[in-house]
Amino acid sequence: MTAPWMLPDFDDHEGFHIFRDPKAGLTAIIAIHSTYLGPSGGGTRFWHYAAPEAAITDALRLSRGMSYKNAMAGLAMGGGKAVILADADRTKSPELIAAFARAVDSLGGRYVTAQDVGISAQDILDISKGTKFVSGLPPKDGGAGGDPGPSTALGVFLGVKAAVKRALGKDDMVGVHVAIQGVGSVGGGLARHLAASGAKLTLADRDAAKAAALAAELGGTSVDADAILQVEADVLSPCALGAILDSQTIPLLKASVIAGGANNQLARPEHGDAVQARGILYAPDYVINAGGIINVALEYLDGADRATVDAKISGIPDRLNAVWDESAATGDNPAKVADRMAQKLIGRG
Ligand code: NAD
Repeated sequence: MTAPWMLPDFDDHEGFHIFRDPKAGLTAIIAIHSTYLGPSGGGTRFWHYAAPEAAITDALRLSRGMSYKNAMAGLAMGGGKAVILADADRTKSPELIAAFARAVDSLGGRYVTAQDVGISAQDILDISKGTKFVSGLPPKDGGAGGDPGPSTALGVFLGVKAAVKRALGKDDMVGVHVAIQGVGSVGGGLARHLAASGAKLTLADRDAAKAAALAAELGGTSVDADAILQVEADVLSPCALGAILDSQTIPLLKASVIAGGANNQLARPEHGDAVQARGILYAPDYVINAGGIINVALEYLDGADRATVDAKISGIPDRLNAVWDESAATGDNPAKVADRMAQKLIGRG
């Protein structure tokens, strides 16, 4: 097996920790990419991987992504990520969660955990019994914290508006046609903001009934999940899966703007060039979808109130515009520009 630091996704990570507790059934990895700006923050993923190598790659890649996201959100937080290697049945026991909390605690605050795929709000509460280095706890009166989805949706909405102003020269969303792929926590919240601001909506979800119901409620239309990328809309907002922009899909896109909440929308870095070559304005995913981590980080770092969180989220359009300005000045695609800006912010530029 290749050593983690020889893998292509190793990026001078500051720490790579493996935790095993056979009695509790725990095998976990905590990757700390950078603590340059503060404690490394990023959620815990509970996932059944086909092979351990895939878990290592995920931890390396996702922790670097958190460094970039936190830096571009203007947070005093570095980037880290934990993955718990679930068995095929995804068995999760109180002992496993307690052992994981001890693992997080042993790092003394260099890594702060939160929710990610496979980890519930209850799991986070349980983890908090074993370590204080955890965020995303239920909010106390008017405080930050809790479900990050609505904060992410708000940031994506503000980012969509900024992109529409930039690409279409429109100051408001009245009549602007937005196609949303995935109407879960983020996409559904985004659809509500957009409907309230007069946008025209086309919605799709793998769960077609869910998309149809929301479209009926908000006065939009719904299409098959397979058709959403090719809708003749002004904006395509990917809010479901990663890696949806690739050499098959990019030539078929009809929108002028891509601005959505899904992580890792570009299948590979060069697809940023392909999107740009089509004349489509792209909002780098980790810049536009930072609302949730802003909520989680400010809860942990400051015990901030809701108004402070919303004020920080309202900075997302400025950060997007800074990326687009540099993209226009240099000719580099926005995703590449965002990476470069983030690397500078974490002292690696
Ligand atoms: P969610 O599970 O609540 O919603 C995802 C929705 O996408 C579901 O309704 C699902 O049925 C649908 N979907 C799945 N595959 C689809 C497909 N092929 N076509 C159409 N629809 C499909 O998840 P979420 O929290 O809304 O997150 C959505 C995306 O945003 C994910 O990529 C996530 O990583 C990213 N994200 C979420 C947050 C957050 O705060 N929740 C923060 C940052 C990034």
